[in-house]
Amino acid sequence: MSGSRSVIVVGGGLVGCVLSIYLARRGLDVTLYERNPDPRKRGGASRASINITLCERGWQSLSRIGLGPKIEQLSIPAYGRCVHTNLGESCFQQYGLVGQAIHSISRNTLHVELIQAAEDQGVGLRFDSRCCNIDFESAEVEGECDGHPFRDCGDCIFAADGCFSVVRSQLLKKGRFNYSQRFWRNGYKELRIPPDTRGRPQLEFNAIHLWPRGSYMAIAFPNLDGSFTCSLHLPFEGEVSFESIRCGKQLFDLFSKSFPDLVTLIPGLDDGFFSQEPNEMLTLKCQPWSWKGKALLLGDAAHAVLPSYGQGANASFEDCQRLDNIVEQHGSAWQKVFELFEGERRPNTDALADLCERHFEDLSNHSRNSLFQLRRRVESELHRLMPDHFAPLYAMVTFSSMPYCEAIQKDHAQTWVVDRLLKCDDIEQKLASGDFQEKILQWLDDSEGREQTAPVHPSGSDSVVLR
Ligand SMILES: Cc1cc2nc3c(=O)[nH]c(=O)nc-3n(C[C@H](O)[C@H](O)[C@H](O)COP(=O)(O)OP(=O)(O)OC[C@H]3O[C@@H](n4cnc5c(N)ncnc54)[C@H](O)[C@@H]3O)c2cc1C
Repeated sequence: MSGSRSVIVVGGGLVGCVLSIYLARRGLDVTLYERNPDPRKRGGASRASINITLCERGWQSLSRIGLGPKIEQLSIPAYGRCVHTNLGESCFQQYGLVGQAIHSISRNTLHVELIQAAEDQGVGLRFDSRCCNIDFESAEVEGECDGHPFRDCGDCIFAADGCFSVVRSQLLKKGRFNYSQRFWRNGYKELRIPPDTRGRPQLEFNAIHLWPRGSYMAIAFPNLDGSFTCSLHLPFEGEVSFESIRCGKQLFDLFSKSFPDLVTLIPGLDDGFFSQEPNEMLTLKCQPWSWKGKALLLGDAAHAVLPSYGQGANASFEDCQRLDNIVEQHGSAWQKVFELFEGERRPNTDALADLCERHFEDLSNHSRNSLFQLRRRVESELHRLMPDHFAPLYAMVTFSSMPYCEAIQKDHAQTWVVDRLLKCDDIEQKLASGDFQEKILQWLDDSEGREQTAPVHPSGSDSVVLR
């Protein structure tokens, strides 16, 4: 790459690492500043961690930088979700077509691999280095390392410092910067379901487990050692909430009533629950993402989404790949590169943010009603029967790299067809008939030309279930 050669990345989380690898592969001198210590030196991969599910978008990006096979070995494929009722019964719902899976991996394990890969790629890693001030004109960062101040300057700064980004907060002061942040009413705590005494998983291993209970829920992800990481999502305040559960008895009563099968699966439930504060989740949008070719926001610093679709990291890894495509064409003409990047990505990540919020809402309201269940079965069957013509929104988001806006638009059109089908008696039997399938194909053709004015998920028509 001709022209500018040294760049600074602020934030060495998942996105800062992946981005640094992409940039270093383009021949740039990359220095990455991370406020925390090196996770490889503090038993990073073995510490408690949330789980991330990787899907097609994430894999495509990781594969481009040669990391796909290594990370796949550290993850567990989940072919569907196992939904548990409060009577202790469960039912398995396949995610996509036969063989399609999302992959569960501990965030810490993934982080350690990415840090190592960045170092192997020649990225200069500076841990324990907190960036405090940015001079945008000169692309200079000022910070503090072990109590000592430092300064560094590059041709531009990439800010991957997460949803509470310092770089973004300083950009905000420059004026004409649009910004919105919305905390979700629920938070989450992480609990652990260990393997049994013989080291075997206590739940179906190749699945994500879900206990939906209206305004609250639990969700569990498999780990390589046979354990599951279980996130308990509750409102912060209200009748059943983190605020209202103050003693072991109240916690036990909640679990006995709503999650009876989890009571025996989580030893030391109250220690696990009361030893941590609930974590927040938020949606964040901002604009513009860059400043005069000198700084660019990426990952959660630019667009944080609720985890209902498991897309935050996947979308951000996709960002890195798309940015790299633009760099390939335009080299280090950073202003042009940043503008093209934001032009392509922001409409899609904004649409994703809305989708994830609506999905959490819909999940609470509809996921357990029978019309919703029927809709899901009809959609899955259509996907199976005519995979080239119909894919549920979840499949388009998860198992393709179709731009999010396009997937949502296509879903609008398909919703019109599914709404018509749901009005037919015995629809599930009728789907098997060849003549009926011809008619559906015709409707799908017709729907593509229709002007779509409906909301993405009108009441009762939510076409996706949490992960
Ligand atoms: C409960 C939950 C479940 C999720 N599940 C999924 C999932 O299944 N699939 C998925 O794709 N996504 C998921 N996500 C989203 C995903 O975790 C985030 O999108 C992703 O971690 C964002 O990465 P990032 O590098 O942009 O930010 P972060 O991971 O927040 O990293 C930012 C880094 O910057 C560093 N930093 C911050 N400030 C400074 C500073 N001033 N100086 C130096 N360094 C700094 C931080 O220490 C950190 O290392 C989930 C999120 C949550 C909360």
